[in-house]
Amino acid sequence: MSIQKLIRPTIKALKPYSSARDEFQGNSDDMVFLDANENPFENGVNRYPDPQQRSVKSLLSEIKNIPENNILLGNGSDEVLDLIFRAFCEPNQDNIITLPPTYGMYSVLANINAVEIKSVQLDDNFQPKVDEILKVSNDNSKLLFLCSPNNPTGNSFEAKSIEELIKKFQGIVVIDEAYIDFSNEESWISKLSEFPNLIVTQTLSKAYGMAGIRLGICYASSEIISVLNRIKPPYNVNELTQQRAIQQLKLNDLTKKQVEDILTERKNLINQLNTVSYISKIYPTDANFVLVEVDDATKRYNQLIEKGIVIRNRTTQPGCKNCLRLTVGTTFENKQLIKVMKEI
Ligand SMILES: *Cc1c(COP(=O)(O)O)cnc(C)c1O
Repeated sequence: MSIQKLIRPTIKALKPYSSARDEFQGNSDDMVFLDANENPFENGVNRYPDPQQRSVKSLLSEIKNIPENNILLGNGSDEVLDLIFRAFCEPNQDNIITLPPTYGMYSVLANINAVEIKSVQLDDNFQPKVDEILKVSNDNSKLLFLCSPNNPTGNSFEAKSIEELIKKFQGIVVIDEAYIDFSNEESWISKLSEFPNLIVTQTLSKAYGMAGIRLGICYASSEIISVLNRIKPPYNVNELTQQRAIQQLKLNDLTKKQVEDILTERKNLINQLNTVSYISKIYPTDANFVLVEVDDATKRYNQLIEKGIVIRNRTTQPGCKNCLRLTVGTTFENKQLIKVMKEI
């Protein structure tokens, strides 16, 4: 498969902006920097950040065991996903495929970029309907979004379905692994060299506990990464975000411990949810949240709000009638949730 053929002509022809920090990179301790019109008085953030975020990538490269030139960072996954749209989808011509119920940003970004959305609903077990997906795709289908573990359902997609889709879909397959660190499934980043049309996105917003700094990660072939690098805003990840990410990624054992704690809490929470009378179904989860079916989702949602507990009502999502999505919190928060759920 030729990735070059999938790239928008405009993007291929683009001459990227070259920033001061792109043109010269040196050891900042012994150089005099008069190239970027910065204020010279040091305050920790008076200099432009590293446009290639090399220190962050170097840590991620070690943790995830993947070369740095297979990594692109963005201002949250949202920016990363938007860059993918802009690289591959010609407005008013191309289309993408999403599999509802799933993360809402794929459709929002498609709409922003004037790209048609083809939806193929997940089956009754919230698994992709492989044949149907391949049937609705055409020459203009540039992106297929697989969110695994999926939000809001919580389950992972079967590896053999994912692999078949990567092999047979004639565009780029984007696997959104925002919740992969909570899952027993292996990340698809180990398969990047096998599949040139594969992009995997992850984030520091969930397991890594840094939703506030906005750092999204894209893993792909160096060919795809270099295309995305051409179109990303030069300083898309700010200095404070880079510093905080470096600090936290060095504490990777702490992250692992927190993920284990959350998984223990998830198990306890599910046990307790089983004893709530109006919960009719608890869906299997591979993420840090649980989807449950109740008697009347909107009523229960409002009752919980009254008692100061905010969850997500997913009842309007396809296949999620009367479903609520509950994030796993601390032991104390989960106890509160169960206590209030039993009171109402
Ligand atoms: C939370 C979430 C993200 C994270 O987005 P950020 O912009 O990185 O915070 C991405 N994908 C899915 C499916 C999510 O649920």
